Amino acid sequence: MSKETEKSNDAAAASATGSHALQFGTAWQYESATEGTDHFEIAERYDLFVDGEFVAPQSGEYFATINPATGEPLCEVASANAADVDRAVAAAKAALPGWKRKSGDERARYLFRIARILQERAREFACLETLDNGKPIAETRDVDVPLAAQHFFYHAGWADKLDLLFPGRVPVPVGVIGQVIPWNFPLLMAAWKIAPALAGGNTVVLKPAETSPLTALRLAEVFQQAGLPAGVVNFVTGDGATGQALVRHPDLDKVAFTGSTEVGKDIQQAVAGRGVDLTLELGGKAAHIVFEDAAIDQAVEGVVRGIFFNQGHVCCAGSRLLVQESVHDLFVRKLARRMERIRVGNPLDKNTDMGAIHSAAQLARIEELVAAGVDEGATLHQSSCELPGQGFWFAPTMFTNVALSHRIAREEIFGPVLSVLTFRTPEEAVEKANNTSYGLSAGIWTDKGARILWLADRLRAGVVWNNTFNRFDAASPFGGFKESGFGREGGRAGMRAYVRLQDGLSAG
Ligand code: NAP
Ligand code: MG
Repeated sequence: MSKETEKSNDAAAASATGSHALQFGTAWQYESATEGTDHFEIAERYDLFVDGEFVAPQSGEYFATINPATGEPLCEVASANAADVDRAVAAAKAALPGWKRKSGDERARYLFRIARILQERAREFACLETLDNGKPIAETRDVDVPLAAQHFFYHAGWADKLDLLFPGRVPVPVGVIGQVIPWNFPLLMAAWKIAPALAGGNTVVLKPAETSPLTALRLAEVFQQAGLPAGVVNFVTGDGATGQALVRHPDLDKVAFTGSTEVGKDIQQAVAGRGVDLTLELGGKAAHIVFEDAAIDQAVEGVVRGIFFNQGHVCCAGSRLLVQESVHDLFVRKLARRMERIRVGNPLDKNTDMGAIHSAAQLARIEELVAAGVDEGATLHQSSCELPGQGFWFAPTMFTNVALSHRIAREEIFGPVLSVLTFRTPEEAVEKANNTSYGLSAGIWTDKGARILWLADRLRAGVVWNNTFNRFDAASPFGGFKESGFGREGGRAGMRAYVRLQDGLSAG
């Protein structure tokens, strides 16, 4: 067991694999040999964040959020009903005129302040995200939290330069934005959505996923600490019904959603004909293409990162490996060896590579698809690692002898499961890569620059990584083609989704 985290008010160490139940109102102590000790509280109960304050839900209802690594509850969170959503939207609407009137420079200062506070409280956020989500602390510490802060810094930079971004046009705020996010990157998705909205002069009501609400609620504390005016951002926690109530609210000017393609389609219908702007970031089944001339060992690392990062709970995961036939056997042998070395276990241990599957429901979905892969005749390879006895776990898994018609090659598994297919020519690689209803991302490993450009031109995917995978940056737009959705987040294109452009004459 890791010594990294101990429940400071309890002599018994809180281990991801330990057996004692957590008490609500737990104080956590996060220790690192190099970084000192941090201490933070998880309250017994969290209310909704509306109009700058935490308020009890009119529904009167609360639900538990659990630690996926133990299956035990962390605390209770308010469940927002339609009346609660209405109150939050009213707060965002009331805050809009004041927020719109602020100069870009003033809005930038708030965003900078939020980014700085996030950096100062980074270890607390990393630890909390790991507890609520199940992902390894090394990822929350090095990816989720720093990138969330980066999104606030980056958009602070645009807040007072929107006129430069849209030359000859007058950018005006869209208005009140309803945002719904999934559980796989809870803090990061909130930052992706909130930072450009605020930079553009909009106000927000955001619904976090039911199973991972805690970092959004802590972000609300950061907003209070930063002095963000009341009502500019509101959080309504709850399940899918809360999300439904939000996206259907008549006072929204835009809806931004990240989640499954199925729910995305439902939202598209819900907002149709209402004059509401919409951006959808949905599922994916990315092709990760490896040519025989690639640096093979680096490509193996890239493929491992592509599918096992965040337990494969990644919309842009490289879940379909297309490897050139001539190097298939070598590549699969190396991958199988590398898979054995992935350390699966306590997410709070900084040496852990792969943490817990996020929920019982997600684990059941992964198990169902893996069983389908075996039934359909693909060959299963699984790491022999030992899995903890409590909580939700799945070993790193790979299928060879996969056909394009198999469910494991077509459906998003959203777990640590790689499907390996082969190709002979670049043309065949493109054809197989594009043979999917999704189009979020793709990856190419080859030594030839010209080949990268040739492929990138032909791949129907919003993001194409070359000799790397799963790299993110606030300056780089992210979004899909086809059933992976529309609209971009990040970069100039992402900012465009949070303003409306008027024609006007500029002074001078
Ligand atoms: P999900 O079921 O679509 O849920 C996403 C969010 O929508 C959650 O907050 C959910 O609430 C809420 N919701 C559920 N039904 C709703 C409805 N009818 N109307 C409005 N909101 C509703 O997806 P998930 O299982 O949480 O996340 C996994 C999916 O997200 C994967 O398909 C993945 O590819 C996709 N994803 C895409 C991106 C991207 O950028 N393209 C990024 C991350 C994830 P509950 O939490 O209560 O269910
Ligand atoms: Mg949780």
